[in-house]
Amino acid sequence: QGEIDFKQDAKFAQHLKKGEGVSDFAKSKTLAQQRQYLPIFSIREELLRVIRENQVIVVVGETGSGKTTQLTQYLHEVGYTNNGIVGCTQPRRVAAMSVAKRVSEEMETELGDKVGYAIRFEDVTGSNTVIKYMTDGVLLRETLKDSDLEKYRIIVMDEAHERSLSTDVLFGILKKVVARRRDFKLIVTSATLNAQKFSDFFGSVPIFHIPGRTFPVQTLYSKTPCEDYVEGAVKQAMAIHITSAPGDILIFMTGQDEIEATCYALQERMEQLASKKEAPKLLILPIYSQLPADLQAKIFENAEDGARKCIVATNIAETSLTVDGIFYVIDTGYGKIKVYNPRMGMDALQVFPVSRAAADQRAGRAGRTGPGTCYRLYTESAYLNEMLPSPVPEIQRTNLGNVVLLLKSLKIDNLLDFDFMDPPPQENILNSMYQLWVLGALNNVGDLTDIVPSVFFRPKDRVEESDAGREKFFVQESDHLTLLNVYKQWTSNNYRGDWCNDHFLHVKGLRKAREVRSQLLDILKTLKIPLTSCGLDWDVVRMAICSAYFHNSARLKGVGEYVNCRKGMPCHLHPSSALYGLGYTPDYVVYHDLILTAKEYMQCATAVEPQWLAELGPMFFSVKDSDTSMIEHKKKQKQEKTAMEEEMESLRKVEEDKERE
Ligand code: ADP
Ligand code: MG
Repeated sequence: QGEIDFKQDAKFAQHLKKGEGVSDFAKSKTLAQQRQYLPIFSIREELLRVIRENQVIVVVGETGSGKTTQLTQYLHEVGYTNNGIVGCTQPRRVAAMSVAKRVSEEMETELGDKVGYAIRFEDVTGSNTVIKYMTDGVLLRETLKDSDLEKYRIIVMDEAHERSLSTDVLFGILKKVVARRRDFKLIVTSATLNAQKFSDFFGSVPIFHIPGRTFPVQTLYSKTPCEDYVEGAVKQAMAIHITSAPGDILIFMTGQDEIEATCYALQERMEQLASKKEAPKLLILPIYSQLPADLQAKIFENAEDGARKCIVATNIAETSLTVDGIFYVIDTGYGKIKVYNPRMGMDALQVFPVSRAAADQRAGRAGRTGPGTCYRLYTESAYLNEMLPSPVPEIQRTNLGNVVLLLKSLKIDNLLDFDFMDPPPQENILNSMYQLWVLGALNNVGDLTDIVPSVFFRPKDRVEESDAGREKFFVQESDHLTLLNVYKQWTSNNYRGDWCNDHFLHVKGLRKAREVRSQLLDILKTLKIPLTSCGLDWDVVRMAICSAYFHNSARLKGVGEYVNCRKGMPCHLHPSSALYGLGYTPDYVVYHDLILTAKEYMQCATAVEPQWLAELGPMFFSVKDSDTSMIEHKKKQKQEKTAMEEEMESLRKVEEDKERE
């Protein structure tokens, strides 16, 4: 069988050499034929046999071999879904949505019918659903309601090599489910990394290899370190586009801002070229997790005849999404990861050099449909001497407090007994628990308290008194400013603990705020950023909050009811909010976070002016006309800002009229 496949490959490669491009391949084949061409198809029977004979297996295969899209369908085809559903977890939301869509097309069913997906705040599944893609976070939350995951016949834990925090916690939980339910199966899939470790964790379960089918990739390094990798990548992409043979380009950047900058610069170069002479067409396509789903889907579409695709992606394109037809990869060598910053006392997304394993994975993307080339915008010495051999699991770089809170919220009582694949030192766990206790997040017996660290203290026997005390601090426009008000008053009362008690405030929370404040001051000093006070002009503070939280903005829809400006999901003012308390319902708010209890509540909301959103969050309007490209959005931005100001003006007029009446 392998041989037949390779012959097919040779034919395929030739077909590409003729310059027909992979898109023509996709066009000329039905979806069913494309399915049969995938490497996993050649070992379908063997794989199903191993699954039948074992309760847990690890499946290893190159990216693009068909693990994510095919495995679930095979399980459905041979009847596993007759009693229960097949769930497949993904560390990334984009992958969950995109893959579910693809599989629903292959199975010729509506998305949300037989095939669906669930991500936070969005459940596109129904009573017919037998294959369900979801983020690992969603499955974790499901274990809260149903600790044995009764409705699942099989769980495929996909992309386990990513070692996200949720994946690692799921490992421990699913191991228990496997022990309790004989009728339950678990399949762990992974790119080549880590397979043995996964197998060992579940008690030396079989590792099944999907035969690889990749072409050689030539790797070229930068001679000197690249100072501006956006510029470097744009230059390289243009050079490829103008001088090299047909084949699509994939550029790895770290995040949305850089991706947009890169796309914009590429578009500009193309326009300059077009004005001089006839240039070949280049289709520039961004992809990152916050991009609206319909724009994300565009990376899979065929370019018009003769055009070359250039996809500019985050590390989402490293393993989670596979686009066929890539012959050139440009790797900046950087990616964003969440790391715990002990100075700030919180997790932050930071740009870091990727690991050697990740760099090799990126390069491999160029060799899927024919021999390719990878341009590394860093030196060979950086690759060999500066990059880590493999990525560090999230559990080892996040604040352990997060892990403790997550496990506690999942009702896991004895954390020291939890079955971690890489257990954090017990001492560190105890330390985190102590810190959470100090903050009031855990009570004396180590259970989560009702309110995870709030500054306001609300004892059950003095609810009315404490609510009245809290209201005295309210600042009409903002919960954030309400907190600032509390802090200011605490300062003028000499940071006294008894003052806090009298006013129903947790002194521990305020002390933490004071600590963070002094750390921020240190950082400003180190960076030589001059300190100025806004004095009494607290609008400046609201504007600063807006500049950081415009992605969490919501527009007034009905009484106390808001909708998220970008995603349209409903959200409500929390009854404890100052805005709610004073009955103030501004047209636009930003909020710190959404919490889902009885409804989706906005936690810590602040009223903002719509023109701030337009100025500070230039991507803010991308939802409305989601069928145009990002680059066009940039151009339209200015237009929209004017429109927004006009809308504001008319709003103001309406207000004035009201007042006159
Ligand atoms: P793996 O999980 O092993 O990396 P996948 O199952 O994700 O492989 O991909 C198998 C094939 O399906 C690839 O050739 C990929 O290009 C194709 N594919 C996956 N998702 C989509 C999609 N949304 N649109 C078009 N093709 C897709
Ligand atoms: Mg996959």
